[in-house]
Amino acid sequence: MARIVMKFGGTSVADLDRIRNVASRVQAEVAAGHEVAVVVSAMSGVTNQLVAWCGSLSPLHDAREYDAVVATGEQVTSGLLAIALQTLGVPSRSWTGWQAGISTDGAHGKARIAGVDGAALLASMAKGQVPVVAGFQGLGPEGRVTTLGRGGSDTSAVALAAALRADRCDIYTDVDGVYTTDPRITARARKLDKIAYEEMLELASVGAKVLQTRSVELAMKERVRVQVLSSFADVPGTLVVDEDEIVEQAMVSGIAYSRDEAKITLRHVPDRPGVAAAIFGPLSDAQVNVDMIVQNVAADGTTDLTFTVSRTDLPRTQSVLAEHKVAIGSETVLTDPDVAKISVVGVGMRSHAGVARIMFATLAGKGINIQVISTSEIKVSVLIAAEYTELAVRALHTAYGLDAA
Ligand code: ADP
Ligand code: ASP
Ligand code: MG
Repeated sequence: MARIVMKFGGTSVADLDRIRNVASRVQAEVAAGHEVAVVVSAMSGVTNQLVAWCGSLSPLHDAREYDAVVATGEQVTSGLLAIALQTLGVPSRSWTGWQAGISTDGAHGKARIAGVDGAALLASMAKGQVPVVAGFQGLGPEGRVTTLGRGGSDTSAVALAAALRADRCDIYTDVDGVYTTDPRITARARKLDKIAYEEMLELASVGAKVLQTRSVELAMKERVRVQVLSSFADVPGTLVVDEDEIVEQAMVSGIAYSRDEAKITLRHVPDRPGVAAAIFGPLSDAQVNVDMIVQNVAADGTTDLTFTVSRTDLPRTQSVLAEHKVAIGSETVLTDPDVAKISVVGVGMRSHAGVARIMFATLAGKGINIQVISTSEIKVSVLIAAEYTELAVRALHTAYGLDAA
């Protein structure tokens, strides 16, 4: 008998038929003698709608109220799945994040899990019940509901798997595993049987939303066995494993893109100590994560500073920059939301040279201009105009020899 956490994403619980389908999958694991806890997302599209409502009322809304609103989607599906399970004769009950013992820090809208007290869930499972936990949510230090950032139900699932000492954390979604790139962008994407934690972490952090970045971080730290698989097909999925379990290391294992970027350029910033701190300090205080940064010194002793933030943080970024305009000393702020970040990732980069060169030559061959570049030990990212996203991903997929035969 194994203890399993099963997580179902938005498309897997998109309507009542799909919720029934999920219930029978859970029933099958229970019938096989396993002890199961379930984590659910909101029905697909629901969280987007809730987020949009908050933004329509006020672009700079109170993040605590945003959380009160957007956390509700998961409460609906957890209750519905518990009913569907009961209908099949499987004892079950729903749990909100706080009832399930998930506590977080106070960073509303993108809170981090601070701890999980799994005692109540374990007691419920010991009685033969299947707990269905609302993903994406927890309880902040001030006793208010928090959410874990978009895609956060993956992190709820991994955190519960760690706290419950589960043998496996199965992430059921609308694709049957992790691919060399988003299978929706190219039919030539290949499914990977295994992927290293580090590669999955890097791919997730640069936009492959099949797993939320923090879920991979947590799985790596807590040694949780994560598997990504389809809730619609009975085929083997992708296992996230240690690097040394991967026999053949390609130079590049995957390509990801993110359209969730916005580029900001501050023109004619004075070139003196303290200016970067005057810009990025207040942004960090406002919980805005800055990603790529480039700075060019011009002949007149000023610099142009370009950086990227998540597109959802753009209104907040603009308001912080306006508020600190005098300290920053720049007259012109240019913003461009029509950009995309394309990244190639692979632990093989540690031992292979020439990864960046292939990337730049391939994009040049397609006439695609590179606006910003950033690299890490196992990744190269470039910022390009959003309209070239698909073209760039497909061309790079071929150039690195990733295309399916
Ligand atoms: P869920 O609602 O189940 O959490 P998500 O939409 O968050 O599902 O994540 C699954 C989606 O991730 C897939 O539909 C696919 O379009 C996208 N995706 C992006 N990159 C990859 C990749 N490398 N492999 C598989 N899926 C990917
Ligand atoms: N429903 C949330 C979202 O859409 C969380 C999740 O699906 O993981 O971001
Ligand atoms: Mg997801």
